[in-house]
Amino acid sequence: MEDDKQPKPNYLWSLFTMRCPRCRRGDMFKSNNAYKKLSLHNILDMHDECPICHQKFDLEPGFWYGTGYVSYGLVLIFSAITFALWCLIVGISMNDNRVFWWLLFNGVVVIILQPWFMRFSRVVYLNFFVKYNKNYDKEKGKTFDY
Ligand SMILES: [Zn+2]
Repeated sequence: MEDDKQPKPNYLWSLFTMRCPRCRRGDMFKSNNAYKKLSLHNILDMHDECPICHQKFDLEPGFWYGTGYVSYGLVLIFSAITFALWCLIVGISMNDNRVFWWLLFNGVVVIILQPWFMRFSRVVYLNFFVKYNKNYDKEKGKTFDY
């Protein structure tokens, strides 16, 4: 029987609302607010497995170390975007310090957004390894445990 009553949730929606990549429904983090408490414990407080499809999130010991590269890439992309916007709105000139004001501005924004980047990079990273499965409620989730 085809499960038409459960449409496939949108990829970007599930990404930005930080859902499990396998069912795109279950929350990956226990609290939706990364800023509730500015401690690593709160920022990275995840469910061990998806509350909906039971996909394990921490696929192997040390799995999340790879998120450092994702986070780096995300911040680079983000900085390129703020630089482009800065050029368009404020402008860049060799004759004044506007480019340094962008550096300061971008640095402050990246620091403020850091909790969000840390979470988002985990979501993106897990998406590299776990794909959407429309039979998420019937089949067993992916794991690296043998
Ligand atoms: Zn799930």
